[in-house]
Amino acid sequence: MTRIIIQGINGRMGKVLCELIDQRNDCRVVGGVDITPQSGAIPVAASLEELNVQADVLIDFSSPAATRNALRFCAQNALPCVICTTGLDADTEALLADASTRCAVFKSANMSMGINLLAQLAQQAAAALGLDYDIEIIEKHHNKKIDAPSGTAKMLARAIEEAHTKLHRCRICQDYTENEICRICSSPKRDTSVICVVESPRDITAFERTREYNGLYHVLHGLISPMDGIGADQLCVKELLARLTDGTVKEVIMATNPTVEGEATAMYLAKLIKPLGIKTTRLAYGLPVGSSLEYADETTLYKALSGRGEL
Ligand SMILES: [Zn+2]
Repeated sequence: MTRIIIQGINGRMGKVLCELIDQRNDCRVVGGVDITPQSGAIPVAASLEELNVQADVLIDFSSPAATRNALRFCAQNALPCVICTTGLDADTEALLADASTRCAVFKSANMSMGINLLAQLAQQAAAALGLDYDIEIIEKHHNKKIDAPSGTAKMLARAIEEAHTKLHRCRICQDYTENEICRICSSPKRDTSVICVVESPRDITAFERTREYNGLYHVLHGLISPMDGIGADQLCVKELLARLTDGTVKEVIMATNPTVEGEATAMYLAKLIKPLGIKTTRLAYGLPVGSSLEYADETTLYKALSGRGEL
């Protein structure tokens, strides 16, 4: 039988917990802490020090100030604790880390399985989208919510941040990867004699969907756009040229979008690459002019790729 103290026993979550624990026969509430003390079957004191009961674990659903007291008490008495209070400041987080060296601490900004699953999904989505997407967290609350942004929102932000800190550009093709060299560049099955030059990592996903292209890629991370003040030196052009020096690459496919900027960038690169004796090709216009590659269906994109012409 696990003996539980609930800090914040008269609060909304405290009451829910009491009801749930009441339905079980392997644990029971032996005491509570809340601002309004009361005697009765379950004694409620104003502080843990005043509550004179033996317990195996403390569950805290209170306020940051009360959480700090709970952490000190649990550390002193080696009492395991479950911290569910949110809105903890940096000092309290440090106190929590310190307490965890002296007693067992289980902490989450949100204990719901759905939210924890959402955090994992958000992390995977952030890793898949890469660093070119902005991610916005919008939260809506009931009018009793005290801390905003909520602990749950911060938890989601941290999960996304974790995914982003792991991502960086592949040393060779400049696509986003968690490793030094991405999956495609390190695959022995890819044809290293062809490089397909694209504007963004999203375009790689579009080409990979065709399952027809087996060469390598190079991500420019943008297009030349004098109107926006973006010149070639702001794109990954020198990284591309560095890949063309050892004679391995026989063809470079310009797969920038069929827009004014896409065309200008393709022409600019073709002029740089042709003198190196490397074939420079452009996607055929099965693609609708002015549209984006990422929205092209597999067949259109494959036709554009197979019908590419030399520049
Ligand atoms: Zn790569």
